[in-house]
Amino acid sequence: MNKNIKRLVAGTLAVLMVAGASANVGSVKLFSDTAITASAVNEASETIATDSGSEKSDQTYTGENFSVSGYLYDSDGLVVYGSYNWGLTVTFASGLKVTKVEFTLGYVSGGGNLDDFVVSAGSASCDAFTKGGVVTVDGFEDEISELVLSDSEYGYQINSVTVYYENHTHGFEYTADGDTITAQCTGNGDCDITEGLTMTISADDADYDGEAHGAALSTDYNTTAFPDEYEIEYYLGDTKLDGAPVDPGVYTAKVTVGDATASVEYTINGTVVTPIDLENCEVTVDTDNKTVSVTYNGETVPESEYHVIFFTYEEIEGGENVTRVGTEFPTEAGTYIAAVVANDDSMGYIGENRSEPFTIEEETESSETESSDTDSSEADSSTADSSKADSSSTASTSSAAATSASTTTNPATGAAAAGMSALALAAAAFVTAKKKK
Ligand SMILES: [Zn+2]
Repeated sequence: MNKNIKRLVAGTLAVLMVAGASANVGSVKLFSDTAITASAVNEASETIATDSGSEKSDQTYTGENFSVSGYLYDSDGLVVYGSYNWGLTVTFASGLKVTKVEFTLGYVSGGGNLDDFVVSAGSASCDAFTKGGVVTVDGFEDEISELVLSDSEYGYQINSVTVYYENHTHGFEYTADGDTITAQCTGNGDCDITEGLTMTISADDADYDGEAHGAALSTDYNTTAFPDEYEIEYYLGDTKLDGAPVDPGVYTAKVTVGDATASVEYTINGTVVTPIDLENCEVTVDTDNKTVSVTYNGETVPESEYHVIFFTYEEIEGGENVTRVGTEFPTEAGTYIAAVVANDDSMGYIGENRSEPFTIEEETESSETESSDTDSSEADSSTADSSKADSSSTASTSSAAATSASTTTNPATGAAAAGMSALALAAAAFVTAKKKK
C-alpha cells in the first residue's frame, strides 16, 4: 500500500467522527433510493443514493432512468480512486436526454480538489469540493449514454447521483394554410405524436334547396394535438352568420385552433324564391278546350307547379254542395268547379285556389254514354249521386252564361260568398293530393 490509501482511511475516520454516530453510520441514508421530481416544465430529475450494499465490493444501483455502478469501499458511498482503478459509471436509459448530472460528495481525501474529478463527458463545476459539496457536470455536446468518473490522484466518495433530463411536455403550436391547420409540438425532446397533426375544413358547392349547407372538419386528427371541440363559423363576406347558410350565395366557413384559422369557400347556387300563393292567382276554365289555366299578374303559372281537381258544384240553401269528381276534366253534363293546388315539390308556388262554377252542357249526340267515364277509383264520394242528379237541370238553365270561360279574380271572397270554406276546399284538395302519391 502507499500513503494514498492511508489518507483515504484517515478521511473515513474523520467522517465517522464528524457524524458522531459510531454505531450505525452505514445505515444512514442521505437520500431515498430513487426519487424522481419535475424541476421545470420540461425537465425532470432522478436521484439515486449510492450508500447501500456490502462494503468493499462492486455495487450497481438501478433507478428508473439510469443506473450507477462503482466500488463501495465503506458503507456510505462509492469511492472513486484512480490509484485503484475505482471508477464510477452512470449509465442512462436509452433515449434519455441528459442535461445535467449532480454528484453529492462524501468525504474527500486530503489534497483532493475539482481537478481530480475527471469526467468522460461535459465539464464539472463545484462551489466547495468538500463533504456535502455538489459537483455539477453539464455541457454535454451530444447525447450521452453514460458518464464515467475517474480520479487523477486523490480519492473521493460519492453519496448520491442526481440526473436531470428533458421530460417531454406537449406544447402545440398551430399554423394555418388555406383549408388546413397543422399542429407542431414544440415541447423539449421527441414528441410521440407523429400522425394526425393536421385538421382540414371542407365544404362542397350545393344547389339551393331550402336546406342548410355547411362545412365539415376532417376526423382523423389526433385529439391530443387538437384537444378541444372546434366550431365551424360561417361568413357571408365579413358578416358572421348564426349557422350554416341556406340561401344562395358564396360563403366562407372557418375553423380556428389556437391563433390559426383555416377556411374554405363554397357556393350555394340558385336564386332565392319567395313562393307565390296560388290564392292570389287567377284560375280560368276553358270548357271548349277542356283546360284550366292559372295566371299571376298576367303571367302563366307553369302546369308543372300545380295540379287540378274537379268538383261538382251545387248551390244549396245557405251554402254550396261540392263533391270531388277527379282530376280529369269532366265530360258529363253538370256544373263544376276546378280547384288548383300547388304541388308539394313546387319551388315557386304554394296554396290553392278555385275557379268560378262552370257548366258542361248535355251533348245532343249519342256519344254521351261513352263520356260518362267518371273514374270509378276517384268517384268515392257518397254525395256524387245527388249532385249528378241536379246537374242535368242546372246545365240547361245556366248553360248560356257558363259555357264559355269563367273567371274569378277574387277567389277568397268568392268562396266565402258562396258559403264554402276555403279551408274545407283545401282539405279536400290535400286528401286528393295524398291519394295521388
Ligand atoms: Zn409533444
